[in-house]
Amino acid sequence: MSFLLRNHYRLNSSKVYSPSFPLVGLIIFFICFIILFLISACATTRCGSIGNPDKGSLRCGERLTKGYGYRVAESDYAWATKETITLIQYAASATLIMFSDAPDLLIGHLSSKNGGKLLGHISHQSGRDVDVGFYHKDGKYHRTFFNAEDETLDVLKTWYFLETLLLTNRVKLMLLDWDVQRLFYQYLYPVYPKNKLDEWLQYPRPPEVRVGIIRHSPSHKDHVHIRFICPENDRECVD
Ligand SMILES: [Zn+2]
Repeated sequence: MSFLLRNHYRLNSSKVYSPSFPLVGLIIFFICFIILFLISACATTRCGSIGNPDKGSLRCGERLTKGYGYRVAESDYAWATKETITLIQYAASATLIMFSDAPDLLIGHLSSKNGGKLLGHISHQSGRDVDVGFYHKDGKYHRTFFNAEDETLDVLKTWYFLETLLLTNRVKLMLLDWDVQRLFYQYLYPVYPKNKLDEWLQYPRPPEVRVGIIRHSPSHKDHVHIRFICPENDRECVD
């Protein structure tokens, strides 16, 4: 029993059914109600990824701006969770540290400032999707995406970027054309254990077999779509 109530009983021991007691109870109830309301209000205003990538939004996201090893295509569509931003920066800088001659990597759309529908995309709604270009053999930065071919794709650098992200265990999926997956597979097959390749790549299994973190999507020959899993403690995020 609170000090307030104990004091109340002592002062009013001759009249247990004091008319002021309900008032104290009412005040305590009101205070509890306010506290619960504030807790609930705080929970609904938490920053982060809301809902799922196809039907969601972004609350107090961050904007990705040009950084070490990459450039951003359109700053209006470069909003995401803090974790998404950090992961992109981490992988781009790791690649540039490993390959000092690497050109800037082109980062396409992420999400709009508050998330929700983004023109030209089904997903990209909750700050966890990003479209990323490739490193090309000509060693130059390109302002637009263009198709990865055996003659043009810098498999070594591009795979290093992707693997850096895969090793964080924060990647939900990567969408990439089956033929482009083949270019990576040819490079990885002699070196990597089969179980690791099976975990990461859909190739050489047919496009309709939905396995592997890197999955076939026919419109993803000139870029890779990367989706990250929900940040830890992001209670309103749906994978
Ligand atoms: Zn995309």
